[in-house]
Amino acid sequence: MSRVIVVGAGVIGLTAAVRLLEAGHRVDVVARDLPLETTSAIAAALWYPYRALPQDRVTAWAARSREVLAALAQDEPESGVRLRWGTEVLHETTGPPWWADAVPELVAPRALPPGYAAGRSFVAPVVEMPVHLRWLTRRVEELGGTLTRLNLAALPTGADLVVDCAGIGTRLLAGDRAVLPVRGQVVHVEQVGLEQWWLDAAGPTYVVPREREIVLGGTDEEGVWSRTPDPVVAESILRRAQALVPELAGAKVLRHRVGLRPVRPVVRLERAGRVIHCYGHGGAGVTLAWGCAEEVAGLAE
Ligand SMILES: Cc1cc2nc3c(=O)[nH]c(=O)nc-3n(C[C@H](O)[C@H](O)[C@H](O)COP(=O)(O)OP(=O)(O)OC[C@H]3O[C@@H](n4cnc5c(N)ncnc54)[C@H](O)[C@@H]3O)c2cc1C
Repeated sequence: MSRVIVVGAGVIGLTAAVRLLEAGHRVDVVARDLPLETTSAIAAALWYPYRALPQDRVTAWAARSREVLAALAQDEPESGVRLRWGTEVLHETTGPPWWADAVPELVAPRALPPGYAAGRSFVAPVVEMPVHLRWLTRRVEELGGTLTRLNLAALPTGADLVVDCAGIGTRLLAGDRAVLPVRGQVVHVEQVGLEQWWLDAAGPTYVVPREREIVLGGTDEEGVWSRTPDPVVAESILRRAQALVPELAGAKVLRHRVGLRPVRPVVRLERAGRVIHCYGHGGAGVTLAWGCAEEVAGLAE
C-alpha cells in the first residue's frame, strides 16, 4: 500500500482516486477548486471523444469508460449517469468515425434536421455532472480517502506517489505549456420533455437533456481565458440549438456557464518516477475518466 496524493478534484482526479483507493492505496486528494467549482462541473456531459488525442489510446479509454458508465446507469442511478439515445448530425456523408470501435452500434438516423446530409445515432451515457461529482466525492470518502482545498505552487513532495490531475493548472504545476484553454460557453434551459441528445460537432452545437434541464452549447475558443458568459454568444447558442431541435423554442433560460477545456496535442498519461501525470483531456474528460483512472491505478503498482 502506498500513500498517494492526487492533485485535482475534477472528474479525472476524483475518478483516479476512487480506483486507487479500491486498489488498496491510502489517498489524499488536494485541489484549489473543489469538485463543483471545476471545469468538470461545467461539462455537458455527453460521452463523446471530442478534442482529445491520440486516437488509439482515446478510443480504448473511451470504450472502457463507456462500459463503466453504462453499468453505473443501470446499477447506481444516484451516480447521475443515464444512457440516452441521440444523434450526431453531419454536413457531409463520411465513413465511420475514428472512435467507432468504442461504441457497440452506430446506426443511420431515420430523419435529419434541415440542412444536414448525414448522421449517426447511438446510445451514449449522459452524465449530470453536479450529481456525479458529488457521488464521486462520497465514494472517495466512503473508501477512506480525504479531500482538502489547497492551492499549490508546485507538485507536492512527501508522498510515495503523486498523481497530477490538475487539468489546465498543469501549465503552472508541471510547467507544461502544451496545455491550452479552449473556452466553452453553455446555456441551461428548462426541460421541455426532450429525451434524446443532438450534436453537430462542426458548430459545435449540442443539446444534452438532463432530468430537469437541458444543456445547450456551445463554443470552442482556443487560447481564450475569460470565464465570463458573453450574451451575444448565448444568443447564437440558443439560435443554433433551436435550429437543431425546434421544440426548444420558448424554453426558459435558467443560467449561463463557461469552462476552459484543458486541451493538449495529446493527453499526457505516463509515470515519471514518483509522479503519474494524467491531464490534457480536452473536450472529453468525462468520456475518458474511467479508462484513464484504471491505467493510473495500473501505473501505481
Ligand atoms: C462547456 C464544456 C462542455 C464540455 N462537455 C463535455 C462533454 O460533453 N463530454 C466530455 O467528456 N467532456 C466535456 N467537457 C470537457 C471536460 O469538462 C474536461 O475534459 C474535464 O472537466 C477535465 O477534467 P479535469 O479533472 O482534468 O480538470 P478540471 O475539472 O479542470 O479539474 C482540475 C483540478 O485541478 C485543480 N488544480 C489546478 N491547479 C491547481 C493548483 N495550482 N493547486 C491545486 N489544485 C489545482 C483544480 O482546482 C481542479 O480541482 C466539456 C467542457 C466544457 C468547458
